[in-house]
Amino acid sequence: MNYKKDSNDLLVPNVTYKIDPAEIESIEANSIAQEIGFESGDSIISINGKKPRDLIDYQILISDEILEISVLDKNLEIHNISIEKDQDANLGINFKDALFDSIKQCNNRCPFCFIDQQPSGKRKSLYVKDDDYRLSFLYGSYLTLTNLKKEDWERISSQKLSPLFISVHATDPATREKLLKNKKAGVIIDQIAWFERNSIQIHAQIVVCPDINDGKILEKSIFELAEYYKKTAKTVLSVAIVPVGLTKFRPENDGLKSITSDYAIKTIQQVEKIQASLQISHGTRFCWLSDEWYLIAGKNLPSYKSYENMPQESNGVGSIRSFLKTLSEKTKNLPKKIKEPKNISWIVGKLVYEALIPTVKKLNLIDGLKINLYGLPSIYWGQEQVVTGLLTGEDLINGLKNKDLGEAIYIPSIMLKINTDLFLDDKNIKEVENQLNTKIHVLDDSNDIIDTLIGKSNNTDIIKNA
Ligand code: SF4
Repeated sequence: MNYKKDSNDLLVPNVTYKIDPAEIESIEANSIAQEIGFESGDSIISINGKKPRDLIDYQILISDEILEISVLDKNLEIHNISIEKDQDANLGINFKDALFDSIKQCNNRCPFCFIDQQPSGKRKSLYVKDDDYRLSFLYGSYLTLTNLKKEDWERISSQKLSPLFISVHATDPATREKLLKNKKAGVIIDQIAWFERNSIQIHAQIVVCPDINDGKILEKSIFELAEYYKKTAKTVLSVAIVPVGLTKFRPENDGLKSITSDYAIKTIQQVEKIQASLQISHGTRFCWLSDEWYLIAGKNLPSYKSYENMPQESNGVGSIRSFLKTLSEKTKNLPKKIKEPKNISWIVGKLVYEALIPTVKKLNLIDGLKINLYGLPSIYWGQEQVVTGLLTGEDLINGLKNKDLGEAIYIPSIMLKINTDLFLDDKNIKEVENQLNTKIHVLDDSNDIIDTLIGKSNNTDIIKNA
């Protein structure tokens, strides 16, 4: 830490402090924190005498105008700093982790758990089964509510942690207990009623496992959840219906069946009928099938507007439709040619390959641009039809060796662990680049591919509506 202000520093040598690590990863340029002299590697101990447990506490604590912050620097020196700022001013601090205490882990044993369907011997963090309501609030990860203590419920209510994302799977108590292999799992409707009483909204998810929570049970679950979408209190805002994903690493005799094309067609018919009925009774479709259902069934994706306000896009519900819409808008006015010729490869999961062919054909009409679109299966997971986000480094190496890759390959960031260069199988970008003898470009948002390849600076002779 490098202070530019007086701070009543207290030097305590040779003492190791056992504190929860609210460790600073970076400081934003021109921020209050930079002006004061915070540095990456410093740790915040307390703000106005209170120890933040996570980003949620931190955001609440820094909303005061006057802050007394106790900071531990890399040399284990404690500094006490006073800051006066506008109430809504951020400090410009990015933390290493969102949780400064420990992550709340799951106490279920779902047979379809993707974490248990991985090979052994990978990095430890791949096997962490988080079920933490704070991550649900901050990042939209799904939680089951089976591990919440009294103080957690109190905190959700007092800090109004809303909306939360809940894995419901089935409202029928016995079915949910069976799916989660947890005797505490059967009270989901009581818990949703609690959310209603406490004005907390939720988005729900149902992972459909054939012959376990489908058919009548699925229908019952959707309609029971819809009872909590009232004119006066909209507690359950949406339901995402997702097909179970099975990998070759799952144990034998786990009682699970994979989703076939016929099964997907049947489920689409069932859910679309329910949507039509809810549209009449509730004024919303309320439940939506994830894109995978339509791709597995070989059916066209529903229209963009049928997803209403895309409440579960981050869960793969309507995300391809939304992506195609943006691509179509971005490719309305294409240049005739680009200044610097480019020959590159765009990598996606096999399941979405066909949907992107028309766009790539259109882009390849641009003089000087050649895009090789590759839709890869996942040999790693043992899935022929796979979504892009599940492709691993090994899949890229196996699927692309000896292929014409051009100058570089472009992959969407959803193939990598958030904020890292690691694929799901632990391989990093460098390893894959070395094996394929090419350069990898990561696209933050897949729509970036258009800007990256034919960005305005590269355009000549824009043709309207090409
Ligand atoms: S709740 Fe989630 S993390 Fe826990 S076992 Fe089930 S699927 Fe796995």
